[in-house]
Amino acid sequence: MTRPIQALVHTQAISHNYQVVKRNAPHSRAFAVVKANAYGHGLQRAATALQAADGFGILEFDNALALRQWGLQQPILLLEGVFSQSELIEAARQDLRIAIHEPGHLVWLEQTTLSRPVHVFLKLNTGMNRLGFPAEQAHDLVARLQKLPNVASITLMAHFATADEPAKGIEKQLTRFASATSGLDLPISLANSAATLAYPQAQHNWVRPGIVLYGSTPFEDRTAEQLGLQAAMTLQAQIIAEQHLQAGDAVGYGATFVADKPMRIGVVACGYADGYPRHAPTGTPVLVDGQRTRLIGRVSMDMLTVDITDLPQARIGSPVELWGKGLPIDDVARAAGTIGYELMCAVAPRVRVVEG
Ligand SMILES: *Cc1c(COP(=O)(O)O)cnc(C)c1O
Repeated sequence: MTRPIQALVHTQAISHNYQVVKRNAPHSRAFAVVKANAYGHGLQRAATALQAADGFGILEFDNALALRQWGLQQPILLLEGVFSQSELIEAARQDLRIAIHEPGHLVWLEQTTLSRPVHVFLKLNTGMNRLGFPAEQAHDLVARLQKLPNVASITLMAHFATADEPAKGIEKQLTRFASATSGLDLPISLANSAATLAYPQAQHNWVRPGIVLYGSTPFEDRTAEQLGLQAAMTLQAQIIAEQHLQAGDAVGYGATFVADKPMRIGVVACGYADGYPRHAPTGTPVLVDGQRTRLIGRVSMDMLTVDITDLPQARIGSPVELWGKGLPIDDVARAAGTIGYELMCAVAPRVRVVEG
């Protein structure tokens, strides 16, 4: 028998979550964001589940080409643009839309011979200060782009830093965007998952949902369930050994957990080399046999340990859910001081993936 750990990917949940986005943004088209191997769920599997999507957002060039090879006809947007002139040529040939966010991109568009014009997404920096031209240059840049035979269309694009934090909101960035682009009659794409759900006024022509497609909430104060989302991945393993502790006995590396009473613990075939966060502390929730219990001691490379003192039926072979349908990934992420995004993207190649 193989080592008992696997990631179950719920493709129907991905399709469902896409429909949740569409219900929330009924007047926009949506680029389903499938970067990072569809946030760890498998690109081909996710793309199949997202066949109804209006388009795809991705940033690994080879994977964008793969989407085309699999026969997907929808618009595909390269969220970080191209990384070389030869990629620009290939992007045009494969009809990939490109973000352009720095002056070198303009030079390439001006100086390269393309097999057909490309649809460009002019990325404007409205305060995130990561990618994008200063928003105030929008009019000049648009004028420059409109002269180029290589440019088929221009969509204005920006990205919010705090759409997931109600206290900070998006007002400042939205205002800067609006004043810098006023008078430009062009399609607009601004909203990630959080902005799509929290700010209908930011939806415009194209929304760009990622995390919600995979059933995790972008918000601190609203759960995935409250948003109507379904978990797209269940990471499951089994108990492979049990130990009986006396008061004073320690568990695992560093002997960081010490029992204060007799305890029974289960050793689970999942560790940080499977993608489980090593920094998850004692107390992080885990399901054993469908019952919520807690991680204890340090997570090691191939194993972690759980408290089964109050679960008398738990034994070797008992199913363990690290996150998924029965245990929101966001609960685990919060306990571990991270976000659902990081957990799902980190599931390691050695974990078998099964659809179900
Ligand atoms: C990743 C990404 C998104 C999706 O963000 P979520 O928070 O996962 O919805 C949207 N836009 C851009 C440019 C991205 O890189």
